[in-house]
Amino acid sequence: AEAAEARLLERRELGSTGIKVSCVGFGASPLGNVFGPVSDDEALAAVRRAFELGINFFDTSPYYGGTVSESVLGRCLRALGVPRSEFFVSTKCGRYIDGFDFSAERVTRSVDESLSRLGLDYVDFLQCHDIEFGSLDQIVSETIPAIQKLKEAGKVRFVGITGLPLEIFNYVLDRVPQESVDVILSYCHYSINDSSLLSLLPYLEKKGVGVISASPLAMGLLTDNGPPEWHPASPELKASCRAAADHCRGKGKNISHLALQYSLGNKGVASVLVGMNSVKQVEENVAAAMEQAANGIDEELLEEVEAILGPVKNQTWSSGIQQG
Ligand code: NAD
Repeated sequence: AEAAEARLLERRELGSTGIKVSCVGFGASPLGNVFGPVSDDEALAAVRRAFELGINFFDTSPYYGGTVSESVLGRCLRALGVPRSEFFVSTKCGRYIDGFDFSAERVTRSVDESLSRLGLDYVDFLQCHDIEFGSLDQIVSETIPAIQKLKEAGKVRFVGITGLPLEIFNYVLDRVPQESVDVILSYCHYSINDSSLLSLLPYLEKKGVGVISASPLAMGLLTDNGPPEWHPASPELKASCRAAADHCRGKGKNISHLALQYSLGNKGVASVLVGMNSVKQVEENVAAAMEQAANGIDEELLEEVEAILGPVKNQTWSSGIQQG
């Protein structure tokens, strides 16, 4: 039984939700074609393989591909017919292809639109998407209370907030009633080049808030293919990541493999969301996680990569509006 157990992708408790999510979560933004075109067949095969390998957590947003990610994920879930209790879906509200709107009215309408595209009666998580672009005071006083009502109506199980600057999480969590925010989703702050999320973990644990960390590959910086055109990193950060990827390749290793393993290294992070659009990526990422669970990370390679990335460590980019 122990050997069989060791072949399962690890699941971790997510804050106080009582839910156990797979430590690798399926980031579905690529299904909205944001990293290049993905056919319906490729999308379905990738989602099917994810389920087969033990991934039970899928993250999307009406913003990704202007609703395309939600629609494609919904079609895949319907086609596969997996029992509803066996997977968790997170979608978002407040960010759309035509701009931001965190009003109670928009968010309330948004969840119905998302449920219809996803073909679901409820979502497990509804997260306010990139709140640094809205008024944080509105998130506290209007958006989160509106989502509480959606929770009471049974359309949403858990409430979350997402964004890039880490201070937004303290700002909101210090001002909302205890237990009204179940999870936060941070991105690009727990990967080899930027581990600043770690300093926030004790605070989040004290609050009983679950932690989801996205973009272990730094939205493509830590891949052989490199980042997409729209990537906001500085030329210096891009060049350092390119050098790190080249270094790994020169040693017959893969930077993405190492990067995902690094991001899985702290159990205070329940799930690491990787954007995936193919069976190959799903298999590679699950294999990296299984290898890390069994043997740990390649410490020597990690040290070399950390040395290359040292000069740009924790370098980020600005996101959002001035809060006043
Ligand atoms: P990521 O760091 O996961 O990188 C994704 C890119 O890496 C894609 O191009 C993907 O095709 C590629 N990739 C995946 N596995 C690979 C592998 N094994 N080898 C080589 N390349 C590989 O960045 P992301 O997609 O932006 O983040 C993951 C998910 O997290 C998103 O899909 C989204 O669901 C979520 N997210 C949410 C927010 C937010 O709420 N504000 C922000 C960022 C990400």
